Order: sequence, then structure tokens, then C-alpha cells
Amino acid sequence: MSRSVSHIITAHRQREGAGFIVRRPFPTHGLDMVDPFLMLDELGPIDYAPGEAVGAPDHPHRGFETVTYNVEGETEHEDSEGHQGYLGPGDVQWMTAGAGVVHSEMPSRRVQQKGGRVHGFQLWVNLPARDKMMKPRYQELPAARIPLVKTEDGKAQVRLIAGEALGAKAVIDTRTPILYQHWTLQPGTVIEQPVPAGYNACAYVFIGQALLGADARPVGEGQLALLGQGDMVRLECAPSAKEPTQFLLLGGVPLGEPVARYGPFVMNTKEEIMQAVRDFQMGRMGQIAR
Ligand code: MN
Repeated sequence: MSRSVSHIITAHRQREGAGFIVRRPFPTHGLDMVDPFLMLDELGPIDYAPGEAVGAPDHPHRGFETVTYNVEGETEHEDSEGHQGYLGPGDVQWMTAGAGVVHSEMPSRRVQQKGGRVHGFQLWVNLPARDKMMKPRYQELPAARIPLVKTEDGKAQVRLIAGEALGAKAVIDTRTPILYQHWTLQPGTVIEQPVPAGYNACAYVFIGQALLGADARPVGEGQLALLGQGDMVRLECAPSAKEPTQFLLLGGVPLGEPVARYGPFVMNTKEEIMQAVRDFQMGRMGQIAR
């Protein structure tokens, strides 16, 4: 059964971190989350002048995962576990905050000094109750290890951050079944992509216009299409389209657990949130050694 688009949500703009603007399809009025996904932010594309670029300096997380995907530009990451990472174009960092980390996410020193283009995504993936207090875990994947798969005619390509498509499989290990794919379709392309039954699924268009779902609903730049149930989804770029379209296809098994969220902490109960705030204030999530 082919999935249909059930709702289309237009992303709103929001100020984050030290003052950068993101496009955020959820959480927003009318769409709190797409279980197990808690938040999706598109950062940029923005061209920074020298000295202009800002990021998100030291802050904590507990109870979920932050997934950073750089489309263009460079970011640097540091955390209380002693990790220092650099993300270049196409690189992915899948951070399982678990019991808690303090990290900083900044444009690279070079972008801060000389300016440059930044474009990327941050997805928050909720952890099941049994994993919320797990030891933090990092998976850092350079673009070269993210499978980039094309159809035979070259008119469709997909970067596989999580899940399977076109006969290939992503290498990132997820705590619960997740599909996270960056599709590029040339005009006049139709793909029928399996999305396992029982997954919640959505697609966020960030370049051009896609025709999504069984009834080929037009979904434009900055819009998120929620998909109904089924075991596959039809993805199209119309023959008349003026440019290729690019979108993220996201899917996952819903956790179906209570969600208590407060800023950078996402737990199951209010008491656990209060404990997270106390633990952070007491320094139990560590600090970044500099
Ligand atoms: Mn963060």
C-alpha cells in the first residue's frame, strides 16, 4: 500500500544558539513531533561574512540523540567526554546524549574568521525509556562513508544516513529502526521507496518542489509532508519542474511513550526533567575541558 500525504506543514523561522536562524518544520503549532523524531532544524543556507558566523556554545543534552548533517560548510564540535570533531560537507555526526553531555557546536574557525557558506540539518531522535540514561555514544561519519546511491539513469540519487534504498544500506547504527535519507530527483523522475509498515514517516523539501505520496501532492521549499500509513512512498519531480528537487525522507518506529521536554532535556516524566536540571546544575553532565 502506497502512503499518502496526510498534512503539509510550512516551517517557521526561529532564532537558536548564539543567534543563528533556523527553518523549523517541527515542533511548531500543529505539529509537536513525529514520534520518534522530536525536532528538525534546517540551518541556512546562509553566506556569512568574516566574523559573522555564530553557533551554539556549551550546552547540555539528556535523553535523546542529536544528528547533525552538514550539507555545505564546516562545523566543529567539542564535548565533555573529550571528543573533538570536525564536520565537513556531507559529513554526519550521530550523537547519543543518553545520560548527559555538554557540547558546543560551532562554525569552524575558518568560517568564523573568513566567512563562508553554512547549510545543514539537525534532527533530534528520541530514545526509548530503557536507553535514556545510557552512556553517551558518538558516531562520526565522513561523507565518504555515507553511501551515495544513484539510479541506473542517474536521475535520482540518495545519501543514506540511516535505512535502506536502491539496494544499499546505511552504516550508522540506530537504537531503534530509523530511516534518514537525502534525496535529489531530476525533473521527470519517479521513485517508489519502501518505508516499512508501522513506521511514522515524513518528508521535508528544502530545494525545489516535489510531488509526494500516492496522489502526487505538491510540496514546496520549506514544507514538510506528513505521510500516512503504508509500506512504500512515491517520490516524484515533475517533468515540468525548472530545477531538481532535494528533500529529506525520515521514518521510524514510534516509541509511543510519554514525552516530557524542557529545552535540551527530553525524558518521560516531569520528575526526570527536574532531576536532569539538577544534575546539570551540579555539574554531573561534565564540562568541556579547554
Ligand atoms: Mn546541541
